[in-house]
Amino acid sequence: MSFTLARYLLHFGDSLKAAAIRGRNYNGFLLLTPNERKFTTNAVPVAQKRKSNEELLVVVGGGAAGVYGAIRAKTVAPNLNVLVIEKGKPLSKVRISGGGRCNVTNGHCPDNMVLAEHYPRGNKELRGAFFNMHGPVDTMSWFADHGVQLKTEDDGRVFPVSNSSASVVDCLLSQASYRAVSLQTGKVVTSASASAVGKFILKVEKRTLNFVEYVEADYLLIASGSSKQGYNLAVQLGHSIVDPVPSLFTLKIEDSQITELAGVTFPKVITKLKLEHVERNRLHLTQVGPMLVTHWGFSGPVILRLSAWGARELFSSGYKGKLVVDFVPDLHIEDMKLILSRHKERFVKQKVLNSCPTEFGLVKRFWKYILDREGLLGNTLWASVSNNSLFSIAHLLKHCTFGVTGKGQFKDEFVTAGGVPLSEIYLNTMESRKCPHLFFAGEVLNVDGVTGGFNFQNAWSGGFIAGTSIGRLAVDATLKEGVA
Ligand SMILES: Cc1cc2nc3c(=O)[nH]c(=O)nc-3n(C[C@H](O)[C@H](O)[C@H](O)COP(=O)(O)OP(=O)(O)OC[C@H]3O[C@@H](n4cnc5c(N)ncnc54)[C@H](O)[C@@H]3O)c2cc1C
Repeated sequence: MSFTLARYLLHFGDSLKAAAIRGRNYNGFLLLTPNERKFTTNAVPVAQKRKSNEELLVVVGGGAAGVYGAIRAKTVAPNLNVLVIEKGKPLSKVRISGGGRCNVTNGHCPDNMVLAEHYPRGNKELRGAFFNMHGPVDTMSWFADHGVQLKTEDDGRVFPVSNSSASVVDCLLSQASYRAVSLQTGKVVTSASASAVGKFILKVEKRTLNFVEYVEADYLLIASGSSKQGYNLAVQLGHSIVDPVPSLFTLKIEDSQITELAGVTFPKVITKLKLEHVERNRLHLTQVGPMLVTHWGFSGPVILRLSAWGARELFSSGYKGKLVVDFVPDLHIEDMKLILSRHKERFVKQKVLNSCPTEFGLVKRFWKYILDREGLLGNTLWASVSNNSLFSIAHLLKHCTFGVTGKGQFKDEFVTAGGVPLSEIYLNTMESRKCPHLFFAGEVLNVDGVTGGFNFQNAWSGGFIAGTSIGRLAVDATLKEGVA
């Protein structure tokens, strides 16, 4: 075989057939086995110009962004060959997401300006064309049109009515199969370069088998999530990477009595993160929402939001700092003092542990914690509580300070902040500003959202826009070919 480039086209479930035919011409694409490795980047066979209706899009990564983008490209340009290369199993994060239910998107943000505010990285850039082209409403319509019934919960999170991520996974895989998107799993794209004739040369490896293939692609969509290999490909093609750091995690708290509160939830608290070396109090390091006490610290939406907005600062401070919590955010401190004074007058003969002002809405376990921190024994009668103690309780409930000693270690990192800077791509096409016909979508970009379906929405929007742009380029190429 004198042909020095390998190209392949395989449909879902065709891996065995692929093995059998490797090294032979198949569907117009040639496969190259390791012992036939004659490839050099300088040896791109310009003479073997293919018809544009044989153009190939390679998608690196079979996650939400990659599969959605692949389906979209094939929908816009049915003649374009689309190959998704996935190193593990396709859509594995979709499957485990949302506790197995998959929080597909968020249904409470019809205004794109409001929607963009849910992205600690990307909030300025995503205010424009990005969500206008494919926002949450479009995502919901897409899934509904393809047979996945969705429901919006009170807090805005959108889930399949089935309460099973399998509905989303099955829908995407069957659409990909229906559109004849090809998928290769268990293979890693380990390097990428742009050839002199504007194509991409990709090295594909299956490490366990010492297996190497080279693939030539006309379009490349990197949708590799937060994998280091994906970042490397972006760098090889001329991009920079904003250092990746974890986002969306729980906080470890230094307080031995916290374990006794494990499982206690607060429907609404205001939390303020104070970190050493962070000079000014950033607006977003104050968050309002529900909080949960765990065996090692604090979790819940308010903490995850803080961790997202403070991801970089927390990383730089070694996850050490102070967390100040207002446990009674709807009452002013002066009103709290008044409530406590009246309570004392009314319940003089009652033990403090057995009667907490109902206006505070606190559970007994937590009330005990507050009394302990104040040094008040539970069997003290209200009558003997000094006014100073009353004011001090009010102050503690409004400004309860905890020492943050680290981040949760229990695989509760949901996303990565960092990746390809948005300034290096056109957000209305997702095409690279550095390298024509190279596209990015999903978490590989320096975009991450808070919890609530925003991270998948970034993947769907980016995948859709990239797929549309690539599809249109491929259609244009076919038309030009026809005219010529
Ligand atoms: C436990 C968990 C639960 C989550 N729940 C939700 C939720 O309910 N709602 C929400 O909005 N977000 C959720 N997220 C976040 C969401 O899963 C991600 O933001 C989203 O999956 C990003 O999609 P992606 O396609 O960009 O990346 P990924 O889903 O990470 O897909 C990238 C794919 O590329 C593959 N890959 C990487 N490099 C290569 C390479 N070189 N060659 C071949 N393949 C490669 C990877 O194996 C991976 O399959 C959750 C995340 C986790 C971890």
